[in-house]
Amino acid sequence: MTITKQQILQWLELSAEVFQAEQDFLTDLDREIGDADHGLNMNRGFQKVKDKLPSLADKDIGTILKTTGMTLLSSIGGASGPLYGTFFIRSASSVMAKEELSLAELTQMLQDGVDGIVQRGKAEVGDKTMVDTWDGILACLKEKQGTVMADALDCAVAEAEKAMKGTIPMQAKKGRASYLGERSIGHQDPGATSTYLMFSALRNASVQ
Ligand code: ADP
Ligand code: MG
Ligand code: MG
Repeated sequence: MTITKQQILQWLELSAEVFQAEQDFLTDLDREIGDADHGLNMNRGFQKVKDKLPSLADKDIGTILKTTGMTLLSSIGGASGPLYGTFFIRSASSVMAKEELSLAELTQMLQDGVDGIVQRGKAEVGDKTMVDTWDGILACLKEKQGTVMADALDCAVAEAEKAMKGTIPMQAKKGRASYLGERSIGHQDPGATSTYLMFSALRNASVQ
């Protein structure tokens, strides 16, 4: 089983839908430990991506991802714009010219993207950021190499949810929430949550 180019396009479309539906939820999370704009940022960025999708229909996966990253970079401000922008731009590097991806290729694609987030944002696991969710996802995908794609993605979604909830007791060490010190404890990180939503959309696209 592979993930096709159509499913990648579907992923981006579903992400735009979910960020529209969950805009207020993400913004409320960011109101607790940030500046109440994460839902707005993600929705604005992905609506712009959605506008671009028709023009990407005949492009390869790498080009689709790179264009997505550049669109997010230029349309989302704050911390998350450069981080998600970098994620998609870097994720494109190993999948240029490809029309479908095996589990191993998908894992490499996501790993490259996450390496970009870490290089740019310097967050480590446990800092209460989106990196925590990505770490759970990648651990699962690596463990499940050689198994059925759908099982690997289901495992990664479950792990992503666990990691997202695992940010609640953490004290933020990076980003705006870190300015709160101990007061950041007890709240779920907005970026860890948007990463969970975006990855769930990938799983949902892969079974369509
Ligand atoms: P801003 O904080 O600039 O308003 P957003 O609210 O859109 O940006 O995004 C906040 C999220 O970005 C946080 O919840 C966190 O997950 C993520 N984040 C912030 N700084 C970093 C970083 N250095 N590395 C990884 N993720 C980060
Ligand atoms: Mg914010
Ligand atoms: Mg902001």
